[in-house]
Amino acid sequence: MRFIERYPALSKEVACNIYAVPTIDSLIDLPTYKLIMTSTGIAYKEVREAPINLQGVSGMLLTDERVLCLERSRVYFHRRLGSALHLGTRVNRLEEDANGVWVNGRRFDVVVDATWGHFLRPPADVFYEPTLLLYYEGPVDHPAVTLVDGPLCSVYPTDDPSIYTLSSVTHTPLGIFSSAVDAHAFRDNAVTATLIEQKRQQMETHISRYMPDFRDKFRFVGPQTAIKTKLFGNHDDRSCYVFHQGRKIIVMSGKVDTIFVATERILAALEAEYGGDLLDVSSTLKRELPR
Ligand SMILES: Cc1cc2nc3c(=O)[nH]c(=O)nc-3n(C[C@H](O)[C@H](O)[C@H](O)COP(=O)(O)OP(=O)(O)OC[C@H]3O[C@@H](n4cnc5c(N)ncnc54)[C@H](O)[C@@H]3O)c2cc1C
Repeated sequence: MRFIERYPALSKEVACNIYAVPTIDSLIDLPTYKLIMTSTGIAYKEVREAPINLQGVSGMLLTDERVLCLERSRVYFHRRLGSALHLGTRVNRLEEDANGVWVNGRRFDVVVDATWGHFLRPPADVFYEPTLLLYYEGPVDHPAVTLVDGPLCSVYPTDDPSIYTLSSVTHTPLGIFSSAVDAHAFRDNAVTATLIEQKRQQMETHISRYMPDFRDKFRFVGPQTAIKTKLFGNHDDRSCYVFHQGRKIIVMSGKVDTIFVATERILAALEAEYGGDLLDVSSTLKRELPR
């Protein structure tokens, strides 16, 4: 809600957004899933019939989850940040001394590293996971379908009305690497046409289990690779972490909507550091009281 309030133009509604709970493969049954949605305050409407052919599911919930408008976001921040934004500039060097922090040889008071742990390593137990999503062309305004909960899959719209992503909790992750450099090397060298074709078959088989006519309706148009930074542990933690080290602030952003958490923590850290020492200012109340 906060994201929509602050950036109303940067996301849009999904005409029909279905969360479906598979009867056999879900880790959580339908009543429990509904209970979690309700207790989290997420609006949904249970429906008996979907406008598309879905099989093997014990229930369907229509949600108000939206889709990010990537190109609008790019234009928006480009305009807002103006000449302060330098795209295509790799930070190679970062040194800190008593006078400031030097980024590629230029002095700043403070630096916020928002590279998701790809430049400065966060002081946390993290790993790097290259990922593969697949883009498909499909019918305009086809419903979004997310199978929950567990090692399942999803067909989700993008900001182009006929392009969708297919992702799978099982097949989208490509490996686990302890360093960002190794994860990049893997993504850039090992994601070959053969691997993409193999993953495509696996993901299409996965989604066809619940959407049997997926292959008839959708045409593969290309892959999208990325690298996720995650915390070790089975808790699937997607919280936002902000670490403060001297003049360096390292952000691990979690999900997109955690930008507000990051902003608040960064401002709090700066306020604490540069807000000034006010401990020697004492109360003037006695002087101000009427006599
Ligand atoms: C497959 C996948 C699915 C996801 N699905 C969702 C979802 O459904 N909902 C959701 O909210 N989130 C989702 N996420 C997470 C979301 O993408 C991230 O939370 C978000 O992109 C984080 O934004 P960010 O700007 O913090 O980091 P990033 O988008 O990772 O940006 C970091 C930037 O730092 C730059 N950089 C790195 N090193 C340097 C350097 N040395 N010098 C200069 N620049 C550098 C990189 O080029 C990059 O542009 C998903 C992520 C993946 C990979």
